[in-house]
Amino acid sequence: MLKIDMHTHIIPEHLPKWTEKFGYGDFIHLQHHKEGAAMMMKGTKFFREIQANCWDPAIRIEEYKKHETQVQVISTIPVMFSYDAKPKDGLEVSEYLNDHVADICAKYPKNYIGLGTVPMQDEELAIQELHRLKELNIPGIQIGSNINDKNLSSDRFFPIFQACQELDIAIMIHPWNMMGFHSMERYWLPWLVGMPAETSRAACSLIFGGVLERLPKLRVNFSHAGGAFIPTLGRIEHGFNCRPDLVAIDNPVNPREYLGKFWVDSITHDPVLLKFILEHQGSNRITLGSDYPFPLGDLEIGAYIEEMELEEKVVEDIFCNATLEWLNLDKSQFEN
Ligand SMILES: [Zn+2]
Repeated sequence: MLKIDMHTHIIPEHLPKWTEKFGYGDFIHLQHHKEGAAMMMKGTKFFREIQANCWDPAIRIEEYKKHETQVQVISTIPVMFSYDAKPKDGLEVSEYLNDHVADICAKYPKNYIGLGTVPMQDEELAIQELHRLKELNIPGIQIGSNINDKNLSSDRFFPIFQACQELDIAIMIHPWNMMGFHSMERYWLPWLVGMPAETSRAACSLIFGGVLERLPKLRVNFSHAGGAFIPTLGRIEHGFNCRPDLVAIDNPVNPREYLGKFWVDSITHDPVLLKFILEHQGSNRITLGSDYPFPLGDLEIGAYIEEMELEEKVVEDIFCNATLEWLNLDKSQFEN
């Protein structure tokens, strides 16, 4: 069975010294301090250590063979978004990362699909880069759950979403710039509490802001099984019903109506929760994801799904069909 992992991160082995070049900021650079490993540095601060499987496409393909997974959808690491950079510098970073992803996809067309990144801080430049991504054969983009603390319902982002719909470019929403980050750094809470909340923030913003209503053909995928959104939808819907004066001010449609219209990935680490989400979304709206190569991810690439005794069609939907539909790609492209 074809397996496509649509949530994986990659970074070029070498990055320009953007902080020096631009003359400000804490852009990420890599210090290759030993064979097969590098330290990601944010300015002078250590961010995280990464291994060669974070940048080497051949090593990644070998590792994926162990999990019988042929195709990886690659996107940058969210810390690279650079939404706080000056717009033209944000564009330069995006172009560099997108060229790298496009090169890998061109070299290994049966193993890699790319997602781009765009400078969301400037709608004109973001749309300019969307057009270039189209030429580079990149079928989607990854964006943050908020943009410099602005919710995705903000009017300034609407033209970007509109362009995505027009250009047939899919969107993956990844939690980043987590709310409450500095007040809960202990216990890794930004990742454990902030990320699921951020994804729900993004889903609620796109729904209540009327973005999904106004752009019905926009194909959006929310990371980490939609974060807190689906598990707390009862509360969200109740809020919509009991206080429409606060909630239903920009879109009169019940948030539950959008289930099965967007996609979510399978990263729950919990078969009971995945079953719950399956009941809400349907199998053709859940895409196999892992968050490879990072330790918080499902690094056995959906092995637990195979142990759930689901119908073969359901597994096939999650493993490939849902992602192919989300990215509007043809299965034959990946068959030998
Ligand atoms: Zn991720």
